[in-house]
Amino acid sequence: MYKPIRDLDKHLINIQQLSDISTHSYHIYLLATDMDGTLTKNGKFTSQLLNTLERLSTAKIPVLIVTGRSAGWVSAISSLMPIAGAIAENGGLFYLSDNSDPVTLTHIPDLVNHRQDLAKTFVNLQTYFPQIQESADNLFRVTDWTFDLTSLTTEELQKIGNLCQQMGWGFTYSNVQCHIQPPGQNKAVGLLKVLRQYFPTYFPEQVITVGDSPNDESLFNQRYFPISVGVANIRGYENQLQHQPTYITTAAEGDGFCELCSYILENCQM
Ligand SMILES: [Mg+2]
Repeated sequence: MYKPIRDLDKHLINIQQLSDISTHSYHIYLLATDMDGTLTKNGKFTSQLLNTLERLSTAKIPVLIVTGRSAGWVSAISSLMPIAGAIAENGGLFYLSDNSDPVTLTHIPDLVNHRQDLAKTFVNLQTYFPQIQESADNLFRVTDWTFDLTSLTTEELQKIGNLCQQMGWGFTYSNVQCHIQPPGQNKAVGLLKVLRQYFPTYFPEQVITVGDSPNDESLFNQRYFPISVGVANIRGYENQLQHQPTYITTAAEGDGFCELCSYILENCQM
């Protein structure tokens, strides 16, 4: 069911700082975007978003959703939305839009043991933070383990991250969930593997990454993605990000994504 992907660590890297998207010599782009808080508005997809995605599809601008949501969710989203594909679990798995079989992006030798180890780690965290509760969609996950973000302070999240690291796990969080995950698994690593394998004709300068939260931070790393965009609500996390987006939209959430896409559709096509 789960197909391994060949090791793609030797990806092309091009370091470049751009002053304005429209001045770039490339005119064909691929959009790699977060979903919650970036495509949604108050937690929902809007008619404006679906219209925008259809316009991008008509213009032959591929859209990849890169989300922390579970394999179960993303399997459906990649099939139902007018997109090229979707990456689930912050870089854990990839679904091409026309193929329901997921591709694992993180190598996990024994899935049963992996889930058991994640469960033990979560129980251990609960001894420090008894209030944390497993997320409803955790049942539909393959590579990571999630619990709800509710009422955790920035300091508590930092402590949870340190505890996960001590137990040999990675940790990240978004505007909705906290993720215990394999070390080194993040959106950028997963996206780079997918780009190399499935979209090899696109240079890094042609990939525009978009996000709104700390779990999008790797997508803002200019070493890998010279053009990154935060929707306006990213400003709430500015002090928590090691990598800042190159651009920030005026509007927040899905409205910010549509703002960016209108700009691309009007200014960046041949
Ligand atoms: Mg988000």
